[in-house]
Amino acid sequence: MRSSDPYIVLTLEGAAKMAESKLSLGSLNIRHVPSEDLYVVTTVETARDIRLQVEIPRKYTALHWGDPLYSAQWMRPTTEHINLNHLMLLRRPGASIPFDDFRKMLPGVSDPGGKLGLLITHDPQIPSEATEAGAAEFAGWLVHRTGVRAIAIEAEPAVVGLAQLTGRWPIEQLAANSVMVVGCGSIGSAAAEALAGYGLGSVELVDPDRFLWHNMLRHALGPESVGRFKVAAMKDHLAQHWPQQTVVAHRRDVVAEAHYIRPLVDRVDLVLCAADGIAPRRVVSHLSRRARKAAVLACVLDNGSIGEVIRLRPTPRFGCLLCLRQQLADQGAMDAEADQELDYGTGRVHQPMTAVPPDLRYVGMFAAKVAIATLLESLHGDHTQQVPGEHAIIGLRPAGDLAAPFDLSQAGDVRWSSIPRPRASCPTCSPG
Ligand SMILES: [Zn+2]
Repeated sequence: MRSSDPYIVLTLEGAAKMAESKLSLGSLNIRHVPSEDLYVVTTVETARDIRLQVEIPRKYTALHWGDPLYSAQWMRPTTEHINLNHLMLLRRPGASIPFDDFRKMLPGVSDPGGKLGLLITHDPQIPSEATEAGAAEFAGWLVHRTGVRAIAIEAEPAVVGLAQLTGRWPIEQLAANSVMVVGCGSIGSAAAEALAGYGLGSVELVDPDRFLWHNMLRHALGPESVGRFKVAAMKDHLAQHWPQQTVVAHRRDVVAEAHYIRPLVDRVDLVLCAADGIAPRRVVSHLSRRARKAAVLACVLDNGSIGEVIRLRPTPRFGCLLCLRQQLADQGAMDAEADQELDYGTGRVHQPMTAVPPDLRYVGMFAAKVAIATLLESLHGDHTQQVPGEHAIIGLRPAGDLAAPFDLSQAGDVRWSSIPRPRASCPTCSPG
């Protein structure tokens, strides 16, 4: 079998219709996509002259379909292990069986005349050793008078999506958790996608802005979302790719509407802040500390030359964003918060706009990874995803000219450190 050979796509519904039918032979409607040399089963005869439509992925209907096939059938042979023969034939590129010989093996197969026919054989009794060797319950055949060729069937498995990770990734644990994502721009949209991909059960998206053309280059959303509110468009985007996740969209400003945000922080397990500017990050640092929730803050600094991910955990060991920045200021490091604010307020030239798109996605995914590791560790006692510290500096396009701890000189380098204990005078960390 070569990848250039034609393929048949059989959805789970189509397979079930054949498997549950009392017939041993029925007709099929199979559509052909010539550009892909792909066949898609669209109707199945399940009882004499009863043909049922099979639902197919919506995107397929937009493909350019070829002429209908002259004859297409499915068959459940009672004797021969025909699907084992199929496997052996499939492994011999170019091999075919003379039509008359094939018809002797499978009486009932239609004569396609001078045209091309197609057959699917269903063998529910296939021996397990044959299954292990690669033989399948459904097998496809291109039937022509000049010879019959085996073709591959891509049958939809019973389990698709995140459930495929069962036993290899804690999907049940993460399905019970929720994260609030503040800021649905370049970094936030990438983080939201990654959280869904890790199997997080629910996400609360917070962003007051609309998605505009200039956002598109660095964003998960495309032109169909221009003009929409980012949270609403992201909610639809996530629902399409990760239907298992609950997404709530909040068209709110985390700074101006802190009264609205506060109960949300109480409700979620962690806050991931990807909003740019000093104020939203400070608000998230403060509200999450007060709600005793962990927070992960992600941004790029120095015109996108480095990424920064900070994890704030509400324990006596770790201070807040202000405590960290104070320590860095005492050490003479760059004022990262002021750097964030550069050009801010013009409404057009934000810091992330100087970074290249995959670098921002990388930082967003990195932040999601840290958030997931934190949930697993703190809520599920799963230390297998433990990250090395609380503060990560990520080399994107570093020039090596910044003071420590931002003095990375290589792209792809990640430097982890801890963050200081709470300062006694801190308005966020001190109990009050
Ligand atoms: Zn503090």
